[in-house]
Amino acid sequence: LSKSSAQIRLPRYVRVNLLKTTVEDVLQMFVSEKYEEIENVNPTYTEYIELVRNLQPKQFLRDCHLPELLVFARGTDLHEHKLYKSGAIILQDKQAFLPAYILAPPAGSHVIDCCAAPGNKTTHTAAILHNTGRVFAFDKDGQRLASMRKLTQCVGASGAIQLSHMDFLKVDPTSPQYSRVTHAIVDPSCSGSGIVSRLNELTSVEEPNSKQRLKHLANFQAMILKHALSFPSMQRVVYSTCSIHAEENEGVVKEVEEWCGGRYVLVEIMPTLPGRGEGSFTKCVRMSPERDLTNGFFVACFRRTSACGSKRP
Ligand code: SAM
Repeated sequence: LSKSSAQIRLPRYVRVNLLKTTVEDVLQMFVSEKYEEIENVNPTYTEYIELVRNLQPKQFLRDCHLPELLVFARGTDLHEHKLYKSGAIILQDKQAFLPAYILAPPAGSHVIDCCAAPGNKTTHTAAILHNTGRVFAFDKDGQRLASMRKLTQCVGASGAIQLSHMDFLKVDPTSPQYSRVTHAIVDPSCSGSGIVSRLNELTSVEEPNSKQRLKHLANFQAMILKHALSFPSMQRVVYSTCSIHAEENEGVVKEVEEWCGGRYVLVEIMPTLPGRGEGSFTKCVRMSPERDLTNGFFVACFRRTSACGSKRP
């Protein structure tokens, strides 16, 4: 990301938690508090971004992709709002909502979230499932998992979510409890180099290690992704990072695609988004602060091919 990215202030993204309320009820509440909804009917992506860029305090619009996502002017602070405190709305940058939206598991699905804490994508997945089915969520960090437990309770998603304090690489894909797992979110630890608020924190100390560090991260990310693809009934896996480095993004996808040997293929996701993966990886999405008014982000989606039966790839 360029230096100018660090100056960009992102809008306030608000996800309506459909486990607790409806979009219409939330809209009514904001309008009753003198917020103004800006018309946003079938704009092009460029028009949509301009509308978001020009939002004034107390104005909002509906996101052009996610039906339950509202976008408020930058600087809007809703942390004290009763809808936030009750778990009816969730405050997170837009890119955090893309993986579960792209995964789109049908009601009743069994899903794994391999690196789940603090739980934004797990709880969004549970909302998409309307708390039907099951989300097996793993994280090896006990503290982060403890705050995730609180979040799942606050947003009313704990019924469908099974939390495990575990290294995902030690989870046995052939265990009978995972026999119906068809969908996965793989959002592993990454360099975080796309996160706008962190751009100014990156110190020169990190520079000498960066190539080595990226290699280490990419190895780990590829291992987690391969492990997720190894579940016997797996059909669809979304891989995401908040990194701008090709090593952690297209590099990982390339390695894993080759390893799959045709048993999984990349799905073209969100074709109307202009930010595409680098090189031949145009089926994947890259978001950037300048172009998309989100943190820097990468998403890829793998789909199982019919050739593949239930063998390990
Ligand atoms: N998906 C999360 C969300 O949307 O809230 C954010 C995940 S964060 C980018 C990466 C997480 O991976 C961290 O919580 C970290 O503890 C966890 N992690 C790292 N290595 C892991 C492993 N081997 N098994 C399970 N979790 C791991």
